[in-house]
Amino acid sequence: MKNVIFIAPPAAGKGTISDYLIKNYHYKHLSTGDILREEIQSGSKFGKEIENIMASGNLISDDVMINLIKQKLTELSKQSFILDGFPRTLIQAESLDEMLISMGVTNNVVISLDIDRELALKRVLGRINCPKCGRSYNVYFENMKPSKENICDDCNSDLIKRSDDNEESFRKRFDDYLSNVSLIKSYYEEKHLLKNIIVDNDLERVLKEIIKEAKND
Ligand code: AMP
Repeated sequence: MKNVIFIAPPAAGKGTISDYLIKNYHYKHLSTGDILREEIQSGSKFGKEIENIMASGNLISDDVMINLIKQKLTELSKQSFILDGFPRTLIQAESLDEMLISMGVTNNVVISLDIDRELALKRVLGRINCPKCGRSYNVYFENMKPSKENICDDCNSDLIKRSDDNEESFRKRFDDYLSNVSLIKSYYEEKHLLKNIIVDNDLERVLKEIIKEAKND
C-alpha cells in the first residue's frame, strides 16, 4: 500500500478512515492532532505552551510542527504510514517533500477529503471521544451514538468532548483550512499526487475510493 497523506478540514472523518486502514491494511498512523493532545494530557512544558492555541482553533507554528513530524518520520520502520493533520500549510508541504525525498520515500498518495461545511459543523458539535481507547462517537447520528449515554461501548470509560469542538473554534479551523488548502492542493496537483474524494455520510463508498487510490497498481 502507498503512504497516505490526508488533506482535510475538521470532521472530514480522517480519524475513522485511519482506524479502518490501520485495522485492515496495517498502516502506522501519524496524527499530529493526537500527538499534540497527548502532550497536553501529559502535562509537559510543550503541552502547556500549546494548550490555549489548540483550544482556540489556531494553528501551531510551522517550525514547531515541521520539527515534530521530522522526528516522528525518522522513528518509522518500513511500514506504510498515514499522515493525518500534516501538512496544513504550503511551507509544511514543501518541508515534508524534502524530508520524504531525503528518506527515499516515494510511494505516496495525497488524498483530499472534501466535505460540506454544515455537515462538518454538525459532526464537530456532536462528536464525543473515549479518552482511553480513542473510539469516536456522535450524538447527532443514530448509528454513531454509544449504547449507554456518555459511556464507551468498548471500555466503559466516560466519554469526553474535545476542547476545540465548539462552533467558534470550528469556524476558525475551517476558515484556516480553506485559506491554506488551495495552495497545498495546487502544489500536489503539479506533482500528480493529488486525489480528491467527496465525503458525505456514505462511509463505505468513501473507504472504497480511498483504498482504490492507496493500493499499489
Ligand atoms: P486535528 O486533530 O488534526 O483536528 O488538530 C487539532 C489541532 O492541532 C489543530 O486545530 C491545530 O491547533 C493543531 N495542529 C495539528 N496539526 C497541525 C499542523 N500540521 N500545523 C499546525 N497546527 C496543527
